[in-house]
Formats: sequence, C-alpha cells, structure tokens
Amino acid sequence: MKNISYLSLKAINAPYEKAIAEALIKVVDSGWYLRGRCVSMFENEWASYCDAGYCVGCGNGLDALRLVLMAWKNARLLEQGDEVIVPANTFIATVLAVSESGLTPVLTDPDPDTGLLTVSAIEEMVSSRTRVILPVHLYGQLCDMESIMSYASAHSLLVLEDCAQCHGINHIMSRSAVKIPAGHHACAWSFYPGKNLGALGDAGAVTTDSKSLADEVRALSNYGSAEKYVNDVKGLNSRMDELQAAVLSLKLADLNRCNGRRIDIAHRYLDEVVNPKIMLPHISTASVFHIFPVRCDQRDELQAFLDSRGIQTQIHYPIPPHKQQAYPEWHGCRLPVTEAIACTELSLPCNQAMTDDEVTRVIEALNDF
Ligand SMILES: *Cc1c(COP(=O)(O)O)cnc(C)c1O
Repeated sequence: MKNISYLSLKAINAPYEKAIAEALIKVVDSGWYLRGRCVSMFENEWASYCDAGYCVGCGNGLDALRLVLMAWKNARLLEQGDEVIVPANTFIATVLAVSESGLTPVLTDPDPDTGLLTVSAIEEMVSSRTRVILPVHLYGQLCDMESIMSYASAHSLLVLEDCAQCHGINHIMSRSAVKIPAGHHACAWSFYPGKNLGALGDAGAVTTDSKSLADEVRALSNYGSAEKYVNDVKGLNSRMDELQAAVLSLKLADLNRCNGRRIDIAHRYLDEVVNPKIMLPHISTASVFHIFPVRCDQRDELQAFLDSRGIQTQIHYPIPPHKQQAYPEWHGCRLPVTEAIACTELSLPCNQAMTDDEVTRVIEALNDF
C-alpha cells in the first residue's frame, strides 16, 4: 500500500502544472520581474477575495507582520518596548515579528479547548504598556474576532491578525462587524508553499482597509521609498515577485474548492474517529483546516503506530517559543496550556491531494490504536 504523506507539495501543485508553466513563461517573456502587472493583479484579487480595501504583496509572512508593526511605529502609534499580546502556542514567526520590531511579546496561554487566544486570556495579560493584540488563527480556525475587536475598540488597542493559516476563512464565516479605526487594524498573510494558498517559494501580503497604512507598508517593503531613490523612512527589501504572483493568481481561482475538500475530510475525521484515547479538535467558530490537530496523551506512540501503517503525521509545534534557545529570557515562564498542547498535539494529513480511501485508512488506523 502506498504511504500517505502528511502533505505532498508535488501532489498539491500537480493539477496546475500546465497552467503554471504557461504563466511562468509569460512572465519570463514580459521581461519585467518585480513590482509589475502580475503582482498588482494578485494584490487586487487578494484584497477583493478577503473583502479588504487594500493588499500589499511582500516577501513572506514574517515580513508581513513586521511591516505592519514598523508602519505603526513610524506613525507613532507604537513606541519601542510597547507590549503586544500574542498567543504562546504559535509558530515562532509570530513572536519573532514582535521582538524584531523592538516591541515586547507578551506570551499568553490559549484556551485549552481551541488552542486560540481569547479575551479572558487577554484580560489577564493586559497592562498599561499593552498597545497591540496579535491573534493567530491557528490551524485555520478563526479566533472569536467579535469579542477581540470589541475589546480592542473599548481599550483603543491596535489589532494585527496573523492569517498565515486561514486563507479563505471569510468565505465560510463572515468577519466581525465590530470596527476599530481602519489604520489600527491589519491582516498579515503568508503564501509559504505549505499554506492553504501556497506559492512556489516565499511570498506574503498585508491586507487592510486603510489606504495610508497600505501606502506606508508598500514604501517600507521597498527600502522605505515611495519614489525611486527618495527614502522617507528606513525600510526593508521585502517584495513579492512576479513569478510567485502569477502562480498565486491561478491557484486562488481554485482555493474555495481546495478548502471545501479539506473541510469534508475534517468532518469525516470528526464523525468517524471514535477512540477514547484520541481527543478531536473542538471547533468553536469555523475552520479551513490548515491543520487537523488531535490530542493524545500517548502522542509519540500514536505517531509511531500511524507511521507503521504508512501514515505520516506532524507536530505543531513540538517546542513552544518560550522553550526555544532563541529566547532564554523566557525559560522560566510557565504556560501550562501551551506546554500541554506541545506534548500531546498530533496533526493528521488533511488536504485536497488525499483520496477518500486514504482518509478511510487514516480513520481505521486511529480507531485501531
Ligand atoms: C507560516 C506562518 C508564519 C510565517 O510565514 P512565512 O511566510 O513562512 O514567513 C507566521 N505565522 C504563522 C502562524 C505561520 O503558520
């Protein structure tokens, strides 16, 4: 029997291979490789898909987060050392973006059921230096943005959403109706190859309803320059290239179908996995299932058992940021929920390249454990 890989990028991209080849040749022939037509076309498409006023392409998801924080610093909405509330159980990039920007990440233990940042956890960590809430829509599941936006509005906080795992979520659940000033709110996206919408390399974007924030992010992503050779602020070189934009535009047209397939697979897992040793995820809002996370006290045994059945799994994430060598200052922190998740989480294969038979094999193996 063929092994079931956790995520085969080759299989994910195979349906588009011909279209990708044609699109790439067009870019080569155009002789224009940066800040061109493909990027502005994808930016328009992504803004409209996300129901946002503006989209600015950039180099990757980490930079998308950094660029927004830099723009807020330049606009004097943030100062060196201001505190940013981040969930403690996230991919390291969320935290790096904050510390790299000279701000202070305040690691917050998530809700034990969903693994997401909640207002009650925020309330416990908030201080007089808190300026930003940085929710992460982890695993593809939307945080309760209604309550987070209400809280931010009541306390005049900025909101930066880490959307690296939730492409298309607004197509299955409407966004919060609560508004904060447009310039105080942005979403950061990653199009890393393994994301629900993935490029053939690194790419990222910022979406926002604020023209001035979008303009500032664009200038910052291009050396801090809105006009060639004129540098108003100190910026980065973090641009989406034409090749990636061309690939993203053609894959975007198929994103809702791909997410639909992920959701169907996830619902089979939720309905058909009936093993008391395996805790299924609790979906309180809606999810595009970038990751299907189960929890199991004998996680390592379960992973080895699935591996012996030819089923590859992953752990998101085995070492939380506060336990990393990169952040020795946090080694004394106690974040029990985050630590429990790191010890028990196992991610099942859940993507559009899987066949129904493969899904059945995963379910049978889980029930046999
Ligand atoms: C992937 C990811 C990022 C970083 O994106 P890159 O494009 O790899 O820099 C940030 N946050 C989360 C939650 C991610 O999953």
